[in-house]
Amino acid sequence: MMNKNNPHDSEKTEKPDFFNMDRRTFLKAACLLGASAFLGTYRTELVSALEMAETKIVWLHGAECTGCTESLLNGGDPDVIAALSALNTKLAYHETLLAGQGIFVDDKPANNAELNSEILVDELITEGNYILVVEGAIPNGPNGSGRFFVVGDRTFKELFAKAAGNASAILAVGTCAAYGGINSASSAIAQLTDYRGVAFKGADSSGGMLRELGINKPVINIPGCPAHPDWILLTLSAVVLGKIKVPSDLPSVLDRYGRPRAYFDEDVHDECPRHEYYERDEFDTEIGGHKCLLKLGCKGKHANADCSIRKWNGGASMCVQAGSPCIACVEPGFPDSSRPFYQPGSGSSLEGDSHSSDSDEGDSYEKYSRDKSSDYRKIRRDD
Ligand code: SF4
Ligand code: SF4
Repeated sequence: MMNKNNPHDSEKTEKPDFFNMDRRTFLKAACLLGASAFLGTYRTELVSALEMAETKIVWLHGAECTGCTESLLNGGDPDVIAALSALNTKLAYHETLLAGQGIFVDDKPANNAELNSEILVDELITEGNYILVVEGAIPNGPNGSGRFFVVGDRTFKELFAKAAGNASAILAVGTCAAYGGINSASSAIAQLTDYRGVAFKGADSSGGMLRELGINKPVINIPGCPAHPDWILLTLSAVVLGKIKVPSDLPSVLDRYGRPRAYFDEDVHDECPRHEYYERDEFDTEIGGHKCLLKLGCKGKHANADCSIRKWNGGASMCVQAGSPCIACVEPGFPDSSRPFYQPGSGSSLEGDSHSSDSDEGDSYEKYSRDKSSDYRKIRRDD
């Protein structure tokens, strides 16, 4: 019998039933609680739900700075090991985190999967039944060969093609993997290197590497430079647990740039800690102040992400709060669409952006009409 004075009993009555949670409720709970609280709250249920087969993750590093892995590792609470173990998930391949490879025995390279990452990844791909996470862009150049990025005796493009072909789901983590990101920034060699995201090139969904390779697989984009650890862990959780079914649920949970709406439906500007200054037309003109950063080139209006509410570094702060104008790092046109950084009225070519751009000066800065009654965390679009 339930004892109303027992906090654990009352907690149970308030906690939505994990097993009967539909996708919308799951996403809403995951959004509201954040990765740490969600995985903590449902730890027992998660483990029970996953006592079936362990889910393998194959994590490939393309052209990137490893910032998204750093972000995930710095997530801290839960740490990545605790989170993956709560999800009964095995990080089967991750070059940054693998034990030492390329071991030599009797002066010869050891050729078994424990000591040679190329053999290991090939074996995992052959076994199949894994979620592929891609961090980093994929060079197609020169001339479609992919030879701007060669590891061992094969191009990253070849490895990606093999891994993508046999994956049960694909997550493109970080703006590089999602859209090309920094690698595909405008430059004298951009056409030659021809960096691609997994399913997009910039905002162009017909320019991704999968299309180039003729592979038809659904992809979830989790952009950000870097991506937030909550976005990565909670999306992975939803896929592993079948709360987001791939591919059938994707049209209703992703936006037009392949991002989960749960995290990328808001913009940084609307809930910005400096927003009241914006409303009063009080703008900083030098870095180091406390007012709105719009005239220092802030792109918060164009950045579709919940950073202002979720915050970073365990909820401590976020870019704008820490004094840096938002550079809209989650958008498909990043970084070109945000450049030059830190200049007022810049970034007007916000390619693929759903908002209109700001005018340069004066204050024709159109105020956003906000629905103050709407909870930012609410999944606003119905199935
Ligand atoms: S323009 Fe930038 S600093 Fe100003 S309110 Fe919007 S997000 Fe905040
Ligand atoms: S606040 Fe802007 S620049 Fe900072 S992580 Fe969020 S979208 Fe990126």
